Amino acid sequence: MKNLLDLDPAALAAWLAERGQKPFRARQVSRWVHQRFADDVHAMTDLAGALRTTLAAEAAVVGPTVIRDTTAGDGTRKWLLDAGGGNAVEAVYIPEDDRGTLCISSQAGCALDCAFCSTGRQGFNRNLTTGEIVGQLWHANRTLIAERLSAPWVAAGHAPITNVVMMGMGEPLANYDNVVPALRLFLDDNAYGLSRRRVTLSTSGLVPWIDRLRDECPVALAVSLHAPTDDLRDRLVPINRKHPLASLMAACIRYIERAPRDFVTFEYVMLDGVNDQPAHARALIDLVRDVPCKLNLIPFNPFPASGFTASPRERIRAFARTLQDAGLVATVRKTRGDDIDAACGQLAGQVQDRIRRRLATRIPVAVAR
Ligand code: SAH
Ligand code: SF4
Repeated sequence: MKNLLDLDPAALAAWLAERGQKPFRARQVSRWVHQRFADDVHAMTDLAGALRTTLAAEAAVVGPTVIRDTTAGDGTRKWLLDAGGGNAVEAVYIPEDDRGTLCISSQAGCALDCAFCSTGRQGFNRNLTTGEIVGQLWHANRTLIAERLSAPWVAAGHAPITNVVMMGMGEPLANYDNVVPALRLFLDDNAYGLSRRRVTLSTSGLVPWIDRLRDECPVALAVSLHAPTDDLRDRLVPINRKHPLASLMAACIRYIERAPRDFVTFEYVMLDGVNDQPAHARALIDLVRDVPCKLNLIPFNPFPASGFTASPRERIRAFARTLQDAGLVATVRKTRGDDIDAACGQLAGQVQDRIRRRLATRIPVAVAR
């Protein structure tokens, strides 16, 4: 069975062409799947009977299985999705005044092992498929429409999700071959139809793939910087040992030539006593001098045995002011969904541990029987 969520526009057209179908059929099917969120080919009533029979025999629309669905007091909503084998990934919906953003995961776990990241702590399990990545957006839109979400942009005729950020679990550029087809669906007019500015990919700095993305599917780029010197970044973001700051900054400048926005967003997680001192701010100003950018300071989200603590509010504000006084655009990220552990990787980690413990205890019981 082919999961239609796995096929980007070109792949769907090719798959249908192999079955004797014209290109406009692909557009029709795409609209059923990605705009009307049908999961039953029999519901696709304007398709010719023979095509419906083919689809029913060979294809399906398989969305994610939800393990847990939690909504925070501020409206932030987190779906924990089954990734098989005791793994789970998460998608987080963040409503704001004028937009609905979905934070999407790209891998179950992550191999890059950044020191302060709970996803990294879990290790790498596997890449998500294109269908599992797209399925997060499909599921969020479908659920919020079914629940008749009332939001100003929905009243104006837009889908519930107006912006996508690939800032959930995993390193999207380490799963490039599955992520780019998903991005193409996010952008396609017969699928989600989002503008390139409304789709942001966040990377810890895989330089060769930043260049590929620029050539093949430029969307808005966020780069997780977290340190202004190689010495410190080598420790916090180990991929820096392979792609140090000078090559990362050069890649950012190259990216801007084709990017849909005229700046790169640098993310900088504020770790108490580690990277939040005035000297770090000054080094950061020097580092990004030649890169058109905005800086987003992220309050550290603590997790058990992380070994880090969050910088005090006042220090974050002072750090931001230093950057702003040097003419940089710097903002402090609002924390959202605190009461449901909505930050990257936190809930999935806890639930996975519990699922694994359950799996581990179940096996000997089965053997004993
Ligand atoms: N792998 C990609 C995208 C996913 S992580 C990347 O690293 O960019 C999304 C963002 O959350 C990154 O900027 C990451 O550094 C940050 N992050 C990870 N753990 C965090 C924590 N405990 N508190 C705050 N931000 C964190
Ligand atoms: Fe992976 Fe990003 Fe976490 Fe680093 S911060 S371990 S790259 S998910």
